[in-house]
Amino acid sequence: MEDYPTPRLVVSRCLGFDSCRYNDQLINDQLIRQLVDYIEPITPCPEVDIGLGVPRFPVRIVEQDDQLRLMQSDSELDCTEKFLDFCKRFLDDLGPVDGFLLKHRSPSCGQKEVKIYPSLGKVAPLRSGTGLFASELQKRHPFIPLEDEGRLKNYRIRYRFYTKIFTLARYRQVKQSGDMNQLVEFQARHKFLLMAYNEGRMRELGRIAANQEKIPFETLAENYQNNLFKAVSGQSSRKTNINVLMHMFGYFSETNNRREKSYFLETLELYREGRIPLSSVISIIHSWALRDANDYLLDQYYLAPFPAELLELKDSGRRLDI
Ligand code: SF4
Repeated sequence: MEDYPTPRLVVSRCLGFDSCRYNDQLINDQLIRQLVDYIEPITPCPEVDIGLGVPRFPVRIVEQDDQLRLMQSDSELDCTEKFLDFCKRFLDDLGPVDGFLLKHRSPSCGQKEVKIYPSLGKVAPLRSGTGLFASELQKRHPFIPLEDEGRLKNYRIRYRFYTKIFTLARYRQVKQSGDMNQLVEFQARHKFLLMAYNEGRMRELGRIAANQEKIPFETLAENYQNNLFKAVSGQSSRKTNINVLMHMFGYFSETNNRREKSYFLETLELYREGRIPLSSVISIIHSWALRDANDYLLDQYYLAPFPAELLELKDSGRRLDI
């Protein structure tokens, strides 16, 4: 497998880049430290970037008259307008991006489980929701992968997130190339990966790439991108991955002996039961593809969607989900 592209990733600045949290802290996360060498990070800290200092009074989301306001607890400063203005300028200037990795539970950056209060002061939260910055990112880029560093500790979520950001980065290169042949090659090499995410979209993308109507590259690439974003915004599941693995298994029906076949099916069963990760089954297919010099399968990004160095089995342990 060739070199991997470098995904452009928006990462909350406090995730290892600067001590910019309200309490002057930096989040030192081993997975993010590992990821940083493989990405082009763009590192906003919306709270600092609107002029709140470090350290500062913490902010919280307050629901007032059906509107979400971002307010500083102790100073009672309402930063909402300034904050939304920052989000707009940031997004206007951002350019193409392959993913967002944000700070868990922050009232600005949190994707989920952000506490929403009825007022300032000592009151219980009304409910949980999304941080204001994360919410603006999602509104502008609903199909770009977005995760937080808390969820990234889950192996399966991490595997999917890395798969998506590297796939979008590869497509960004194709689009920039302006080369129709590269688009056709992209489609061919992502066939099984797309099948795992959305088989219907995979077929639609194949139809677009075939370009029977001789549409100019720019229009075609835009249409392909819209469909690709939608395809990878969904999730692959054990069921869809088993479907893909069985398709790939079919390529070895002539070369595998009876014992190899039953070993594979037993291993697949362990994966179906959630006892081993997807990568274990993929590595069997990968080794057979090497043995048989099956270049068609070896070219498939499904076998290695992101650099192997990022393949870390570590899991949050709360719910081992592989
Ligand atoms: S969570 Fe977001 S706003 Fe808060 S310190 Fe981190 S980067 Fe800044």
